[in-house]
Parts: sequence; C-alpha cells; structure tokens
Amino acid sequence: MHPGDTHRIKVPFVDLYAQYQSIRPEIDAAIRGVIAESAFVRGPHVESFERAWAKTLGMRHCVSCANGTDALYISMRGLQLKPGDEVITTAHSWIATSETITQAGGRVVFCDTDEDTFTINPALIESKITPRTVGIIPVHLYGQSADMEAIMAIAAKHKLWVIEDCAQAHLARFKGRLAGTFGNAATFSFYPGKNLGAYGDAGCIVTNDDKLADWTAAFARHGGKGDHVMEGINSRLDGLQAAILNVKLPHLGDWTEARRRIASRYDELLSGVGDIVTPKIGRDRDHVYHLYVIRTERRDALKKHLADAGITTVLNYPKALPFYPAYACLGHKPSDFPVAYRNQSLILSLPVFPEMGNEMIVYIASQIKGYFDGSNA
Ligand SMILES: *Cc1c(COP(=O)(O)O)cnc(C)c1O
Repeated sequence: MHPGDTHRIKVPFVDLYAQYQSIRPEIDAAIRGVIAESAFVRGPHVESFERAWAKTLGMRHCVSCANGTDALYISMRGLQLKPGDEVITTAHSWIATSETITQAGGRVVFCDTDEDTFTINPALIESKITPRTVGIIPVHLYGQSADMEAIMAIAAKHKLWVIEDCAQAHLARFKGRLAGTFGNAATFSFYPGKNLGAYGDAGCIVTNDDKLADWTAAFARHGGKGDHVMEGINSRLDGLQAAILNVKLPHLGDWTEARRRIASRYDELLSGVGDIVTPKIGRDRDHVYHLYVIRTERRDALKKHLADAGITTVLNYPKALPFYPAYACLGHKPSDFPVAYRNQSLILSLPVFPEMGNEMIVYIASQIKGYFDGSNA
C-alpha cells in the first residue's frame, strides 16, 4: 500500500438509497397512502405539492408536469413562441434546455459562458439579439444562479421574455432572491438525482403570470379538462411522485446546507492541489452545489485514477452544446464559444450528496492529491 493511502472505499456519484433510508418511514407511509387512495395521477398530493413549492419560492403559481424538459417546452408554448423565433441560451447546459426551443418551433441561438460561473455571459447576450429574438433562457448551472440582474435588464430593454432553467438550482439565490423568481417563468426538474428529486420523472413551471399559469396548466392536460379549448399534450405529475416530493421538501433546506458543507470541505482540501481550480462563486450568489465541478488540464487521467480508486466522477457535460452532432447544422467552431469550449475538456464533477460522510470527502481528496503528487514525481 502506498504510504498515506487510506483504505479503499467505494464512493458512488450519488447515493439515493442512503437518502431513502434516512426518511424511510415517511416515504413508505406516503407511498402506501397514494396506493390506498388510488391517487395515482394528479389528485390531492399533486395539488398540495404545487401549493407547497409555490409557497417555498414565494411565487403565485406552480404548474406541475411530467419532467423538467416538458416544463421548458410548455413554458415556451405558453409564451407563444412562433416558428422561426429566436431564443438565446447558454452554450453550456444539458441538451433539454436547447432541444425544447427547437421542439417548440424556435431557433436556438447559443451564447458563451462566463469564465467563473459556467453560466451565460450577460456581456455577450446583446450581440446575439436580432429582430427575431423573443426570449432568453439562462440556466443556473451546477446550482449557481446566472447574473439575473444583468439578464433581466437586457430583457427589459429589448422586450424579451426570460425563462429560468432552474433544474439544478433549487433554493439557489442571487442577491438574496431565490432563483426562479426573476423571469416570466422558471422551470424545475425533480428528476431523482436533482437536489429535490422524486422517484421517477417530475417537473414544474413556476410563474407569477396568472394567464401563463392557466394556459400552461390547460395545455399540459390535453388543452383543458372537460372543455378542450385547444389541443394540448399529456404532461402530468403523478401522485406517487408528488407524495414523495411532499415528504422530501421539508428536508431540502438541511440537504442544501449539507451540500454546502461538503463543498467547503472540498474547497479546503483541494486548495493548492496540482492545477485544480475549485468552483468559483460569482458576486451576490449562493451556490447550492447540485454538482461540485473542478477544473484541471489533467482531467481525463485524473478521472481514470479516481475510477481505479473506486470513486465515480461524471462529466457534466463532455461537450458544450454547440459541438454536439445535434447542432452540427449550425456550423459552429470552437472560437465561437471559447470559454465553453475550453471548459468542456477541463471539467470534472466530484461526488456530492447530502449523506456523504467526511471520510468519503477525505478519501477523494487524498486520492486526488495522490494523483498529482505521483504524477509530479
Ligand atoms: C435535468 C435538467 C433538465 C431536464 O429535466 P428532466 O426532468 O430530466 O426532463 C433541464 N435542464 C437542465 C439544466 C437539467 O439539468
């Protein structure tokens, strides 16, 4: 055994079972309740979750739907996106953010990111605006808010709508204000691995716009129950997922704090190790660490080293969106999005989940240190 090595432990990227065990009696009772009531699709659990999530954010409406991807699509339809309309979004996100623009009939216009925060760089947005631009979708990537003050100012100046993609940013804040409360609408995902996660797919739209709330709720349920004023889609939150989310929501604050503690432990242990850049927090923001993403020139070798040590890491995401085959038709080159392009080969997401023990963090940090010590020798 290498001197200084701790014993080998297996570290998953997330451990949803550990979280289940910590709240098992409540979850089991909630699931039994839904089955006993046959409240499988929509119903009282869905309604109470919609109320609770709207209240948590201080928003008037929460319209639940099947997943965070649908939430984006439905919002854009609700904002009356027309064929050929252009929507500006970040070059660095999960593809749900951009594919739904196309799905809703629009044209995707990518904008590069800010060096420190991985979020859309507001200083570049105006250069992307054309007479066809109708909206902006910032993504609060990894759990850190985009610069919502600058983005809302640009949107107001050019009369554009804003949809905040909050899939990774439950309870994140900008200038003390919760992410999801700035735009015309915000979308959340409750995919199991998200900071607030169901046991299957789930999502919602939040808004203070009464008309948008009514329209999106009707559209997501076949254009309205009973009286079909229009054609819609079937995108519903199911009762089991809502009941699980109702159990989990009261814990979200503590889980978020736990993520922050883990992140600051990592910050401490990884400071000055090799060429590692730990996550930077932009001014006026509170990070909720959906992901803890470090940067290093030796990313691929480090990833392999950690895998050999039983530690699962992930690339979120291996390519910036404009460089996937899906967007080859746009003909972009690396120099169009230099920051996102550079980051795609540097980023590495380390495990972070609220139930992670200190020994896991210490083990991961020591393996990372060991890698750099060894490879420098
Ligand atoms: C997870 C995610 C989505 C999509 O949510 P689903 O519930 O998986 O459909 C959208 N945008 C971002 C940034 C995400 O991380």
